Amino acid sequence: MANSNKHKLETRLIHAGVEPDPTTGAIMTPIYQTSTYVQAAPGDHKGYEYARTQNPTRTALQNALASIENGQYGLCFGSGMAATDAVAKLLLPGDEVIVSNDLYGGTYRIFTKVFANYGIKFHFIPMDDAQNIRNYISDKTKMVWVETPTNPLLNVIDIEACAQISKEHNLLLVVDNTFASPYLQNPLDWGADIVLHSATKYLGGHSDVVHGALIMKDVALEERLRFIQNSCGAVPGPHDCWLVLRGIKTLHVRMQRHSENGKAIAEYLRAHPKVARVLWVGFEDHPNHEVARKQMRGYGGMISFVLKDDNIEAALAVLSKTQLFSLAESLGGVESLIGHPATMTHGSIPREERIKNGLSDSLIRLSVGIEDVNDLIEDLAQAIG
Ligand SMILES: *Cc1c(COP(=O)(O)O)cnc(C)c1O
Repeated sequence: MANSNKHKLETRLIHAGVEPDPTTGAIMTPIYQTSTYVQAAPGDHKGYEYARTQNPTRTALQNALASIENGQYGLCFGSGMAATDAVAKLLLPGDEVIVSNDLYGGTYRIFTKVFANYGIKFHFIPMDDAQNIRNYISDKTKMVWVETPTNPLLNVIDIEACAQISKEHNLLLVVDNTFASPYLQNPLDWGADIVLHSATKYLGGHSDVVHGALIMKDVALEERLRFIQNSCGAVPGPHDCWLVLRGIKTLHVRMQRHSENGKAIAEYLRAHPKVARVLWVGFEDHPNHEVARKQMRGYGGMISFVLKDDNIEAALAVLSKTQLFSLAESLGGVESLIGHPATMTHGSIPREERIKNGLSDSLIRLSVGIEDVNDLIEDLAQAIG
């Protein structure tokens, strides 16, 4: 059977979760654009009752995601933040969460501005050394939240070490795997309990959909999260599920090119006289490169760099000059993007906190696309000057 986990990832990306449509034989899962399903008699239905609860296009995608993350269950949401929201709803007032401190600005925002109001406490800490987690564990701690590689500083956190500590203390380990994608890293293999994706990024891959997902192995956890998914209702529509299902079929091919282009551009920037520092997971002298080599199969196209002229104006000047790199939020699409985390994605983090964590004023983040790499390098050359 095509869905079987015995197949290699490259095969599962194309076939997992997907069956020819039973009505017509259509090879691609149809967009079941419906809100409800006709029953022969009350309770006599084909497994589908109401489209917030189940939709066949979503089911296909959920099964595909479960397979490509080496999990048992997938759950889809209307956005990455909706997926984050669902996980946070596993918590109760008084609970505490230990969170990696260099993370997506929206995650920081929902924790500090939404869930903190419900009596949940979040500790944002550096996890380059995972053992640091131990310093923050109390009898109230329920969850460890890790984003790796981190955004935008591209630190690498040892998932296996985090899982070991989490298991010792009976904590749920959540890994936001958006940056690596299932092609480069599978956190469940290293002991994570829940993998989270903003499928808006590499999974969708074409900058045409906002979508989120959770993948897990444990059936009891899946039941709790599916209950939240249905009760709170932040579900994606079938067309959005279809776009992600289509996107993941080329994930491997895209990620290979993102990684190749990323390497070439990281090396180019590192040799540039106006660049002070380049952050890219693939450098052998990256402080956590050994961990990256252990848990990742490649290093992707996310690169951050800091100018020698370290101020916001210098960064904005570069941003205003690129032609191929579009100035935009987001990442992971086929087209190259350039951004300024301090004023864009991470604008919601106070400056003091930001600088303390190493996010300089001139730090520029690239999401390297899959265009011709020499064209991309030329574009950066003329923009940096
Ligand atoms: C974009 C992003 C999110 C949020 O996802 P949305 O789909 O925008 O809601 C969460 N985590 C990371 C790492 C992201 O890049």
